[in-house]
Amino acid sequence: MDIKNVKGTHDIILGEAKIYEHIETTMRAFAEVFNFSEFRTPIIEPNELFVRGVGESSDVVRKEMYTFFDKGNRLLALRPEFTASIVRSFINNKLYATRDLPVKTYYLGPVFRYERPQSGRYRQFHQFGVESLGVKNVLSDVETAILGYVILSALGLENVTLKINTLGDKASRDNYRQALKDYFAPKLEKMCDDCKVRYDVNPLRILDCKVPEDHALVLKAPKIEDYLSKETKDKFYEVVDILKETDVPFEIDSTLVRGLDYYSEFVYEYHYTSKKGVDYGALGAGGHYDDLIEELGGPRLSGVGFSFGIERIYAVLKDDGIFQDHKEAIDLYVMPLDEEARESAFYLANVLRTAGYKTEINLSDTKIGAMFKKAEKIGAKFALIIGENEINNKTVILKDLKTKEQEEVDLKVLLEKIDKNFGENSECSCHHQDEEGSCHCHHDDEGE
Ligand code: AMP
Repeated sequence: MDIKNVKGTHDIILGEAKIYEHIETTMRAFAEVFNFSEFRTPIIEPNELFVRGVGESSDVVRKEMYTFFDKGNRLLALRPEFTASIVRSFINNKLYATRDLPVKTYYLGPVFRYERPQSGRYRQFHQFGVESLGVKNVLSDVETAILGYVILSALGLENVTLKINTLGDKASRDNYRQALKDYFAPKLEKMCDDCKVRYDVNPLRILDCKVPEDHALVLKAPKIEDYLSKETKDKFYEVVDILKETDVPFEIDSTLVRGLDYYSEFVYEYHYTSKKGVDYGALGAGGHYDDLIEELGGPRLSGVGFSFGIERIYAVLKDDGIFQDHKEAIDLYVMPLDEEARESAFYLANVLRTAGYKTEINLSDTKIGAMFKKAEKIGAKFALIIGENEINNKTVILKDLKTKEQEEVDLKVLLEKIDKNFGENSECSCHHQDEEGSCHCHHDDEGE
């Protein structure tokens, strides 16, 4: 039976996982630099959390949730996003009672949406994001937006534009919603079925419609800036003024409304155009929320945050040739010359691995020539050859695969010898230098 992966999911394999790790390490590192700390919340949550948190009018809740009853007859959902979970955790753990608001969190993990799979759109994908919970402060809003930009820059993405908008306060949004209803009412008959539902549940969502005919109507729809109160406009222009003082390239996009219902005031998206001119759409998005914490049972506090789609960022890095699949080179390749030598070679490999050297051992019947070819293919720096003579002499042949020099080394001094060879061109104790002697480890060794 040929069992395939579930539609809309994908495997991250071999060198790809290294790139994901690089992306994730960079994201975590900069979140820490901005003093955000990690929250890990469960993948399964009560369905109700997302219905109330993300909003009944959102596409995510209306059409895309993976929900099921568990054996105790509880209606659960696989998380379709993180913000509602983070806010639930903030409330459950009474973190609002701390004097040190905001609570600044970041998160990373898989999320699930039953969407139509297409390029860059999966049913299981990964998000990294941050939430700053517990303050209503324009600077907090901008702090998160800057952090996202800093991360994308650190990953080597140069053509990022931060698109920003304001959804206004509640009164402004109510006025705008009415204006949209008045505008779309005579056109609704010809619009898509989704828009007909959106019209009733939340007409702002119509602005998100991707159907080309509807999109043409959206472009001519009333603009939110004409319905904003003076207070909300002033607040937005405060954000604009702060951003102008930074080196974050941004533009105001009055059609930006965001697909999740909880946002109010400042919203933003990170857009990217590749070197080949391909528009990748939003790599990430976020905004400010005033009602969500209270809606989920907490005190009336505001929050702000954004979320990146890691698969999108991976695609962009690959397509623009910024980060290619690569295999991390092997330090040592152990080559037993016959079956008798295999066991001794196995113990030797174990000693080398325990000492921290990335070691591979050939465990099949392979001719020596083929073993050398394999050593070259996997980028091994040294080969360790063991045959009958070496077993009898308690030695091993150590061959430098670059200089082709080799010598018979007593097992008692082997590690010392290897340490010396690796130590000569490195300050890092992890032995993972490339050909130029640079270390690609992600840990915090001194000297890196
Ligand atoms: P959202 O939570 O909808 O604001 O999305 C945040 C980011 O997640 C988007 O900007 C995308 O980069 C990414 N994203 C959203 N939906 C998908 C999906 N179905 N597959 C892959 N990435 C996605």
